[in-house]
Amino acid sequence: MKLAILGESAADEAALEILVSKILNRPVELVQPSLRARGWPYVRDILPSVIKHLHYQTEAEGLIVVVDSNDSTIHDPSHDSEGHVPTCRLCELRRVVKHTLQHLRSVEGRAIPRVAIGLAVPCIEAWYRCGKDPQVTEAVWIQARKEGRFPYTCNGLKKAVYGTDRPSLTLETQRAHEEALRLSNNLDLLEQNFPNGFGALIRELHSWMHQANSTSQESES
Ligand SMILES: [Zn+2]
Repeated sequence: MKLAILGESAADEAALEILVSKILNRPVELVQPSLRARGWPYVRDILPSVIKHLHYQTEAEGLIVVVDSNDSTIHDPSHDSEGHVPTCRLCELRRVVKHTLQHLRSVEGRAIPRVAIGLAVPCIEAWYRCGKDPQVTEAVWIQARKEGRFPYTCNGLKKAVYGTDRPSLTLETQRAHEEALRLSNNLDLLEQNFPNGFGALIRELHSWMHQANSTSQESES
């Protein structure tokens, strides 16, 4: 499947390629986004240009976007029923995506690209600790935000994952790759521990597969 991946760093994108390929159960052929983002809010700001580029200039069928929540509001299912929560980065990205997709011109032979969004709480290194440190979960982070007492920080998670909170891109990519390979065999635990931010991503990707299956069944009958 031809996909583009937009994360906060090239290392994140290397990990996401492995996880997404496993979730979709098919090889991912990477399409380069037109622009690279480094952190929030750049991912949000370049997202419309990236989607337009993918639709008009490439054969990408989908785009994966994952950002860190850091100190922002954590997405939860009540946002889906209440509508867009501007302080939630997942809601904010969904709003930008919806607006951009609505204004795309149709291109003959091309479907509108699908977009799946994930929120790493509080940063993607928390996902890399899944299965190694049971204290690092969305539930723990949500409770910590309520109490204003944090049992871990992103810097601490980075040290645990890379051995330093300032890894080189080579080290960051190597470790991201290793942890993604490990997690790709335990996606259930990752979804269980990160049900909102990782859950949103995996549920969206599963819905793509259901749509693809139902389309192929229709064309067969
Ligand atoms: Zn939200």
